[in-house]
Amino acid sequence: MRAMVLDAPGRPLRAADLATPRPGPGQVLLRVAACGVCRTDLHVADGDLLDPALPLVLGHEIVARVEERGEGAERFEIGDRVGVPWLGWTCGVCAYCRSGRENLCDRARFTGYQIDGGYAEQTVADERFCFPLPDAYADVEAAPLLCAGLIGYRALVAAGDAERLGIYGFGAAAHIVAQVARHQGRRLYAFTRRGDDAAQQFARQLGAVWAGVSGDAPPERLDAAILFAPAGELVPAALKQVVKGGVVVCAGIYMSAIPSFSYDLLWGERVVRSVANLTRKDGEEFLALAPRVPVLTSVQPFPLDRANEALDSLRSGRLRGAAVLEVGGRATLR
Ligand SMILES: [Zn+2]
Ligand SMILES: [Zn+2]
Repeated sequence: MRAMVLDAPGRPLRAADLATPRPGPGQVLLRVAACGVCRTDLHVADGDLLDPALPLVLGHEIVARVEERGEGAERFEIGDRVGVPWLGWTCGVCAYCRSGRENLCDRARFTGYQIDGGYAEQTVADERFCFPLPDAYADVEAAPLLCAGLIGYRALVAAGDAERLGIYGFGAAAHIVAQVARHQGRRLYAFTRRGDDAAQQFARQLGAVWAGVSGDAPPERLDAAILFAPAGELVPAALKQVVKGGVVVCAGIYMSAIPSFSYDLLWGERVVRSVANLTRKDGEEFLALAPRVPVLTSVQPFPLDRANEALDSLRSGRLRGAAVLEVGGRATLR
């Protein structure tokens, strides 16, 4: 099978011909149709996240069809379409797993990080961690739901019932969360890098009542803010804009150092928290909700062998919406 392989952080992915992986007990062999390109892939490729299982196939927003079932795997039929997310395996017995917080499992293994992912024609996955996908979405359209959508949804839930919601960084996750937030009747304020007029315009199209630059004050104070941009200086910047009791949710897996700030920014029961990974329950809830909103994903497709180009365009901030690898080159857009 063709695959794009990370040999070492800081190096471009290498086009390779690999042996088809074999599904172990409880696993399914999948024929990949599409795989989203997530900012986490950049953090792995660039070496911000330590100890990837090298050589590694990146990719954890996988839309695929079941091709073969390993021993005891009976959840899906051959040909079923499934989604494979970042959470690839949990132990099921640690204190986190036993208390509904498998996203924090001490021994969790992640797709496209410790487990080979979807930048390939085929992959294997533990069937318990795959999701059935709503029929309303074509393959490339469904891919961004699997991380940008799921993690964005978890961050939105962490923001509580905030009516005035700030979103810092308007990429793949934000463009999905914006639609859910509007559906829930929230007022949305979008913050982007200085000069990124296109992202601000995109945010307004998706219903933001205000869009501006990260350091700026919106016309009203915020009840909560979600940070998708991996820039630590946004934490005090967002705290400055939230009201007493407000929450600042850091939604990325990696963030540059947070500068020190005066305690009065936190005072008044303001909360800074992170969101880590996902639970299967998040996935089930979000994938049931998405077609009801309905969330429409804006995707920029790339063929598999141009994965490096897709990563570069994400790194540079040139993308509108989500980059998705279209594997096998078939036209899967409706
Ligand atoms: Zn566990
Ligand atoms: Zn991701």
